[in-house]
Amino acid sequence: MARKRIYSIARELDTTSKELIDRLAELGMPGLKAANTVDEEEYTLVRNLYEEQVQPLEEEEEKGVPRPPVVSVLGHIDHGKTTLLDAIRKSRLVSKEVGGITQRIGAYQADLHGEKITFIDTPGHKAFTGMRARGAQATDIAILVVAADDGVMPQTVEAIDHIRAANIPLIVAINKIDKTNADLNKVMQALAQHGLTPEDWGGDAITVPISALKEENIDDLLEMILLVAEMEGVRAEPEGRLEAIVIESHLSATRGPVATAVIKNGSLRQRDCIVVGPAYGRVKALIDENGDRLPVAGPGKAVEILGLDAVPPLGSKIEAKAKLKVAKNCAQGRRTADRTSRPSREEMSVAELFRQQEEQQKLTLVLKAESTGALEAVRGEIQLLPTDDVELEFLHTGIGAISESDVLLASTVSNKCLVIGFGVKADPKAMKLAEREGVVILTYAVIYELLEEIERALTGTAAPEYQETKIGEAEVRELFKIPAGVVAGCYVTEGKVLRNARVHVIRQDEELFSGEIASLRRFNDDVRTVLNGRECGIRIKGFDDVRAGDRLIIYTLEEVKR
Ligand code: GDP
Repeated sequence: MARKRIYSIARELDTTSKELIDRLAELGMPGLKAANTVDEEEYTLVRNLYEEQVQPLEEEEEKGVPRPPVVSVLGHIDHGKTTLLDAIRKSRLVSKEVGGITQRIGAYQADLHGEKITFIDTPGHKAFTGMRARGAQATDIAILVVAADDGVMPQTVEAIDHIRAANIPLIVAINKIDKTNADLNKVMQALAQHGLTPEDWGGDAITVPISALKEENIDDLLEMILLVAEMEGVRAEPEGRLEAIVIESHLSATRGPVATAVIKNGSLRQRDCIVVGPAYGRVKALIDENGDRLPVAGPGKAVEILGLDAVPPLGSKIEAKAKLKVAKNCAQGRRTADRTSRPSREEMSVAELFRQQEEQQKLTLVLKAESTGALEAVRGEIQLLPTDDVELEFLHTGIGAISESDVLLASTVSNKCLVIGFGVKADPKAMKLAEREGVVILTYAVIYELLEEIERALTGTAAPEYQETKIGEAEVRELFKIPAGVVAGCYVTEGKVLRNARVHVIRQDEELFSGEIASLRRFNDDVRTVLNGRECGIRIKGFDDVRAGDRLIIYTLEEVKR
């Protein structure tokens, strides 16, 4: 037997390395920590000593046989995800051909001493979360790549949140250790700050230092993956019920709809009748990463599937049916349901959405803001809100506009999840996805409005309804700067302006701002009313960006009694 690492043994004995080392020290075997590996003789000693000290675990009866774990690689851009996937592909491919292999699908299998691992080759947390957006989970284990010279970066944190939400084990690959400015300590410190305390520091986060470029310690990482898979009981029944998830799909001009899926349980065979989300078909061909046609794909395999009638979305589950007709009916039923089910954002208030989930007393938030300061302030305020025993969870917080990835993450949560932007907007793709997935996005510029809405969601009270009544219109002709801000010199073109009314600012038919009138003046006097055909000065609360030519719609708001 080769030398064995302490943390492999710790895994075997169902403990952490630190625990193991501490116990061994107690038993009079110090110094192991420095070596971090033991030879066979020491290993047997360690094992016996340890096992005498602890009660053996009740062996649970496990179903099925071990299958290759399915692994996704995540992390900040440029930290080495692609290089790592390439390094593994090059050195550990299951079947090698002369002249190399052109990989055809978004996954491949690696081999370590005869044990296989399936890598999904579409790095990035958006793809990762997309692969589980419909309640299915393609990935068994996530690898978080962190560059040792750069440390934990915003997308690293985002990836951590996505992995946490998926509730799967994670291994941190600290990459680029060949660089002279690599700083392992700094990386570990930052990881600990994000709840990933490395094993060496007494936590339970597994870290493996590697160099993807120099292909160093890649086997250590693979070994770790296999170990975690074993610990997690990644198993399957090859003859059991089919469980497979789409990790990629597209329409090919020559081959029609193509879906790539990973098989998690059971086996998929040529000529099987399947339903894949809203698509169905009889499997015409199963093609693996080397371009080989397979008669059957068993657990842990990734295969391309031909023969579907439509392109199924990422994350669709595959189900086998006895007859093609049954598969067809099933798919058609889903297509109709998809068209009619989701109420749009406009049709539901936050409180309504929340009331639908009354039994699940939990509100989950994805919160985005323009700066760390703003983010922390809003988060702090939200945590101070009365909750009526509702549990509040921040699934993810970050800086910048609301992205597709934020919406995806929210769409995977089974209880109610709101995506909130404070001082930031949602990008158009995110809005589209939110519409499709029925995810509620709320954006605010004013903190108390945000807090009011969340408080309503937390306490389940309905938002009061207001009715807007237009009372007049004015045109901005000149601007005056005063110490308090900008006064718009206006001409009232319709109705009247009231001091306590509200205003919509319209520029080129677009509404720029809505808010309150801060002051209303006629020649240097404060007045309450200015009528049609007169001039006046209007200052708008919180908005100094008025321009000559803007139209001001003057209106009042009244609460509607239900
Ligand atoms: P990705 O954006 O996470 O997929 O990152 P890439 O794999 O594209 O790597 C980004 C850059 O880092 C490339 O120039 C790689 O050559 C380099 N890189 C990746 N891994 C290593 C490593 O282990 N050591 C060094 N020195 N450079 C690396």
